[in-house]
Amino acid sequence: MSKAIRNDGRTTENAKICVFCLNCPASEAEHVLPKSWYPSTTPKTVQRVTVPVCGVCADEFEKTERAFKIPLLMGLEPNHADMAGVYEAFKRSWQFDKASSHKEAGHRAGLFRKMSRQVRFVVRPAPSRLEVPVRTPAGLYIKASPAMTLDRNVAARICEKFAKGFHFNDYGTPIPASTPIGFFWGKDVAPEVRASFLPVPVNGRLAPGLRYRVLKEGDCSIWLFLLWGQVEFGALVGKPQSAE
Ligand SMILES: [Zn+2]
Repeated sequence: MSKAIRNDGRTTENAKICVFCLNCPASEAEHVLPKSWYPSTTPKTVQRVTVPVCGVCADEFEKTERAFKIPLLMGLEPNHADMAGVYEAFKRSWQFDKASSHKEAGHRAGLFRKMSRQVRFVVRPAPSRLEVPVRTPAGLYIKASPAMTLDRNVAARICEKFAKGFHFNDYGTPIPASTPIGFFWGKDVAPEVRASFLPVPVNGRLAPGLRYRVLKEGDCSIWLFLLWGQVEFGALVGKPQSAE
């Protein structure tokens, strides 16, 4: 499967290739920000960004997005305006009794069991988060918030997907295959780096739920994403390693 790939991300046969792996022909359109992540307040005029993707990458993203979203939502303020409706859609997605078919119900039940094994419950001093009744070992019922550990590799993969997808959408070319992409959380950004972002306009035309800024320096770029008004993370996109 080694078709020559031109700079614009198309193969020599001019068929579209996947902008993420740059290795397989694209078979569908991928929502860079998953459809269910758009808040219900997203204006109707907002064009949801899609880019060409292959079946393998699309399947992997579906799993990774779930692994990212579930622990993250448990840690967020559910009533934040920038995530209107997102939380409700998430809750519906694992209510297996509301599934449309037996197969879907089985799938959701499996997901729920898997989730339950990974969840721990935290009693928070200032509960602005989801609360459920939990039975303590002593038999008492208390209110607690479910929490799951978010795997950094999962977050890094989502961030890489955003950078590759929006790069292709904004510049019309994919990020070259050999490009190193580093991940960081917004809280770890040094003040001087943050200051250098200030003159860069925020791309807020996507949705209230996702805003981003790109700082370009030669072949390198830094992307800073703000998801649902609460989660900030970024990608450090380096120089492609196969120098021409
Ligand atoms: Zn792919």
